[in-house]
Amino acid sequence: KFISFEGGEGAGKSTQIARLAARLRAAGRAVTETREPGGTPGAEAIRALLVSGTADRWDAITEALLMNAARADHVTRVIRPALAAGQVVLCDRYVDSTLVYQGQAGDLSALRQLHKYATGNLWPDLTLWLDLPVKQGLIRASTRGDSGRFEAKGLAFHERVRAGFAALAAAEPARVMRVDASGDEEAVAERVWGAVAWRL
Ligand code: C5P
Repeated sequence: KFISFEGGEGAGKSTQIARLAARLRAAGRAVTETREPGGTPGAEAIRALLVSGTADRWDAITEALLMNAARADHVTRVIRPALAAGQVVLCDRYVDSTLVYQGQAGDLSALRQLHKYATGNLWPDLTLWLDLPVKQGLIRASTRGDSGRFEAKGLAFHERVRAGFAALAAAEPARVMRVDASGDEEAVAERVWGAVAWRL
């Protein structure tokens, strides 16, 4: 099973992935935890190009191509082999981030075609959208500050991101599930478990 986690800044994706991975392993499942952009040495090198520099370092098309280059390497070297070995793959961001973030400046149908080419059309079995009001997420994320040129975006940008994830959840309700990411870690972990356990 391939499960991706999506959400805006400060939604708690990495914390929840670590908790879910521990719980699945305790239940006897083999789990691969990974992230995008990144997840392989080559894709992490591309991530470094993506997150550093000024906001205008990359134009929208180049950014989309770099994201997909990283994804192609990651899918080929990590995600597909793990799935073939019967593992549960938990991925911090995947195609929906591209549709939402790169989709703001670009052509959604081109991004979907590009995804098909880059991944052999590999979609998650389940996508958990950790949803949090934008201001709450930015407060959580401000204590971290690790995503460089992507950080200096205004409130309106982050509201569009949230609306983008909401639109994907509405369009693909069987795949994309909204999880309320407010409240403490423990409470969110229970909601995540409730969404995942019956599907495995
Ligand atoms: O998930 P994480 O916070 O590590 O993502 C790093 C940054 O990259 C975030 O600020 C996110 O907005 C940005 N990003 C993006 N497009 C993607 C994936 C991530 O703009 N497809």
